[in-house]
Amino acid sequence: MQLFTKKSDYLNYRQQSSLGILGLVPTMGNLHQGHLNLVKESLKENDHTLVTIFVNPKQFGPNEDYEKYPRTLESDLKKLKELQGSEKILVFAPERPTEIFPEDFSTEIQVTGLEHALCGLQRPGHFKGVTTVVYQLFQLSGAHKAYFGQKDYQQFKIIQKMTKDLSLAIELHMVPIARESSGLALSSRNQYMTSEQKLEAANIYKSLRMVAQKYLKAPDEAQNLRQEILFKDPSWQYLELLDAQTLKAPGPRTRQVVVAGAYHMGDTRLIDNVLINL
Ligand code: AMP
Repeated sequence: MQLFTKKSDYLNYRQQSSLGILGLVPTMGNLHQGHLNLVKESLKENDHTLVTIFVNPKQFGPNEDYEKYPRTLESDLKKLKELQGSEKILVFAPERPTEIFPEDFSTEIQVTGLEHALCGLQRPGHFKGVTTVVYQLFQLSGAHKAYFGQKDYQQFKIIQKMTKDLSLAIELHMVPIARESSGLALSSRNQYMTSEQKLEAANIYKSLRMVAQKYLKAPDEAQNLRQEILFKDPSWQYLELLDAQTLKAPGPRTRQVVVAGAYHMGDTRLIDNVLINL
């Protein structure tokens, strides 16, 4: 497994090596099974896989957890090394943010439209920070395919739109959500919680599934149930049921819906979603 901490080192290596079909897995590190599933998927489908580990300052708001976000490079590398086929993994973990965003960096990539919903409403500028870094990772990696989790569903749709709008020559793959046995979606932020909070947080997925199941039987009642759940528990930041393609209210042409929620468990903000095909 190769580790690069400087962009120039990776670019030189890429030029001198024949990496064949390259898969990209962008992460912020503190790897868990959800991330590893993306890496495994890429290893299956590509000659080499580039895993990037970069806590992207541009996607954190001023009062968010950028400083305290867990940075665990050594154990991340160990987890990657233990994967079958790890000799085909390259890791790019920039040693400092200026490797990606030099002092004079002044470009922004922003997809409009899809951000006027869900996390986009709650975290102004977040998705602009995501697309700006992901565009750059697409370009510098030279990857043919990129792997993202369904866990960040809105992020995936926005990256998909950017890729289409800008005719980027990269194929996107969305990998299902990895969960604990309780149903709680795995997240690097789960470690901010106590074990009691984690147990309670398993209700997030239960609520999303209840709304989804109700929608299949009686769409109007599902909207009532959604509002009831929101009303009963002010820890929900949002709980929405939307057309999965447009991220707007479902209509007669809707073929897939997403039930998505954000929940405050103490200081920890958690997100999750369920997709339903109609
Ligand atoms: P992050 O390190 O949180 O930026 O996540 C990096 C990638 O891993 C993103 O594409 C996420 O959607 C994905 N991911 C994070 N958690 C999970 C999970 N529980 N299941 C599947 N994918 C995940």
